[in-house]
Amino acid sequence: MTQIAFVGLGNMGSGMCANLVKAGHEVHAFDLSADAVAVAASKGATAAGSLAEAVSGAEVIVSMLPAGKHVLGVYFGEDGVAAHAGPGTLFLDCSTIAVEDAREAGAKAADAGFLMVDAPVSGGTAAADAGTLTFMVGGPDEGFARAKPVLEAMGKNIFHAGASGNGQVAKIANNMLLGISMIGTCEAFNLAEKLGLDAQTFFDISSTASGQCWSMTSYCPAPGPVPTAPSNRDYQPGFAVAMMLKDLKLAMGAAGVAEAETPLGKHAEEIYSRLDEDGFAGLDFSGVMKRIRGEI
Ligand code: NAD
Repeated sequence: MTQIAFVGLGNMGSGMCANLVKAGHEVHAFDLSADAVAVAASKGATAAGSLAEAVSGAEVIVSMLPAGKHVLGVYFGEDGVAAHAGPGTLFLDCSTIAVEDAREAGAKAADAGFLMVDAPVSGGTAAADAGTLTFMVGGPDEGFARAKPVLEAMGKNIFHAGASGNGQVAKIANNMLLGISMIGTCEAFNLAEKLGLDAQTFFDISSTASGQCWSMTSYCPAPGPVPTAPSNRDYQPGFAVAMMLKDLKLAMGAAGVAEAETPLGKHAEEIYSRLDEDGFAGLDFSGVMKRIRGEI
C-alpha cells in the first residue's frame, strides 16, 4: 500500500483515481472542482481541501491535468507540490503535454531533489475506468521502477520509452501517425465507394492486404464493417476531434523544435483544425469521413 496524492480528477483522472483505491492504495484526492473531489471521495479516496493537504505525507504524486502550464504550475508554482512534498516523493505526471514542458518539469524536479517521470496514456475514458490504459514513460530508471507498480493499478501495458520527455515523444509520434492513417483510411473507403465498391467488400479485401491498419480494422470510419466503431453511432466519441487536434499541435510544435519534416502531420493538423473551427470539436476523430464525403 502506497500513500498517493492524486491531482486532476477530470474525465480521465476520476477513473484512474478510483482504480488506485481499488488496488488498495491510500489516495488523497485534489482538484480545483469541489464536485470532482466529492465524486472521488464517494469512490473511496480521501478528499483533500488543498494541494498542500493532498501532498502531505504522500510517497507518490499522480497528476492528470489539461496541459503543460497546469503541470508546471501544480508542481513548481508558488505553494505547489515541490514546496510541500517530503524528501524522496515520486512525481508521476500522466497528462499529455509538450515534450519541452515535460523535460523542463523533469529538470526542475531533479534540481529540487525529486524523481519525476512523464507517463502519458493511450486509451480514453473507458480504458481509464476499466484500468486498461497503456502508459508510455519517460524518465530515469529508478523513477520508472518506482512508478511501475502504481501504473499497473491503472493500466495493462507499461513501457519505459527512455529519458525524461520520451513518454510524450512516443505519445505524439503515435497519435500523429493515427491522425494521418485515419484520414488516409477515410479517403480509401470514399474512393472505393465512389467507384462502385461497397465498404464491406473493400474492408474484407484491404484488411487482409497491404492497406491494413488499426484505423481500418479496429476503428473503421465507414459504418458497417467494425460494429464497435464510432462510425456506427453517428461518430459520437470515442476520441474527439479536439483531442486529436491537441495531439497534432503538440506533434507539430515538437517537430518544429527538432527540425523534423512532417508534411502529412501538418496536413492532418490543418484538416482537424478546420473541423474544429467549423463546430465539430466534439465529433469522433473518425468523423473526418463525413468531411471527405462532403456531408459536413
Ligand atoms: P479534464 O479537463 O476532464 O480534467 C482535468 C482536470 O484537472 C479538471 O477536473 C480540472 O479541474 C483539473 N485541474 C486543472 N487545473 C488544476 C489545478 N491547478 N489543480 C488541481 N486540478 C486542476 O481533462 P481529461 O479529459 O481528464 O484529460 C486530462 C489529460 O489526459 C489531458 O492532458 C489529456 O490530453 C489527456 N488524455 C485525455 C484522454 C481523453 O480521452 N479524455 C485520452 C488520453 C489522454
